[in-house]
Amino acid sequence: MKFSDIIGQEEVKKQLIQSVSDGRVSHTQLFWGPSGAGKFALALAYAQYVNCTAKTINDSCGKCPSCVKASKLTHPDIHFIYPTTTTKQIKKDPESGLFADDWRKYIASCNGYPNLNNWYDFLGVENKQGLIYARDASDIARKLSLKAYEGQYRIIILWMAEKLHNTAANKLLKLLEEPPDNTLFILISEDTEQILNTIKSRAYQIKINRIGLEDIKNRLAALYNVRPAETTDAAIMANGSWPEAIRLFENADEEKDHFVNFQHWMRLCYSTNIAGLTDFVSSISTIGRERQKQFLNFALHHYRNSLLYNYNLQDLIRLPADEAAFNSKFAPFIHHANLLQLTQLMEEGIRQIERNANAQILFMDMSFDIVKLLRQKA
Ligand SMILES: [Zn+2]
Repeated sequence: MKFSDIIGQEEVKKQLIQSVSDGRVSHTQLFWGPSGAGKFALALAYAQYVNCTAKTINDSCGKCPSCVKASKLTHPDIHFIYPTTTTKQIKKDPESGLFADDWRKYIASCNGYPNLNNWYDFLGVENKQGLIYARDASDIARKLSLKAYEGQYRIIILWMAEKLHNTAANKLLKLLEEPPDNTLFILISEDTEQILNTIKSRAYQIKINRIGLEDIKNRLAALYNVRPAETTDAAIMANGSWPEAIRLFENADEEKDHFVNFQHWMRLCYSTNIAGLTDFVSSISTIGRERQKQFLNFALHHYRNSLLYNYNLQDLIRLPADEAAFNSKFAPFIHHANLLQLTQLMEEGIRQIERNANAQILFMDMSFDIVKLLRQKA
């Protein structure tokens, strides 16, 4: 991956390139920030740049043997560590090395913008939580004890450092304390609170902010060959996350369906229109489990936005114009007395759908709960 493949993040790119031209590449760096901002993509581009044999002041060449291998994730001096868990194929002692093929395919499929849940989905382990194990740290120690194959730098990209098991973190710490020459550790994290302080204190931290709205709009427009105006809604709602922007743009019609359904559902609940609710429940029961889950997630999103609206935090609300207009009228019915119950109701609904609950009964029960909750006084 080249820096030019990355969406936005011009300041960070400059900073990383500068560190190489100044010859002051810190041996342990922590890229942290929200999901979807491009932390991993930046780490990949940085690793490729550091070892490129024909780099310019702006980017790696993308053509030298080192760049070609780096872009295929097969560079012998660029190693990856990431959370893993047992799967149908790997029944015990999971570790990154055992998933190398899956990892390469996954990173190619997401164009270098991985997301933890999508990675688990890719492995087919939706409900299991992955970890980075002591085995992973031992493997890195072993690799670093050998000579570098060809690159100037041996680079370890550790994705989701918050998933380091304690024993792995302690092993890693020993490596960070006395790193071999020309070694670069890039740790990536969305939640630095969960990383041991002893590790954090050894890392040069680089905050990766959400991607700018214009950057997302323009890249979506270029990718899908449409006018930037057509990508505005998806870009606004994506809130600085590139994978979210793609998902929202590609599913724009579904998102609109969810909005129409949500608006309809809330109006029926508010007016206790039982006949209307019966029809609504019949129709929502037929859309399939995945879309039902997405619909309830959509509802969750709107309830939370309503609370933001009530606290005059409109700036934090990311909605297309028609949804924002509905939100402003709906918000007064959401307050601290019913928000928690409404969100719990949606979350429980999602769990029930995952457990194959009868959708007709589930949505009817939920409707009656919402009728009551919307009538609660603040
Ligand atoms: Zn190159």
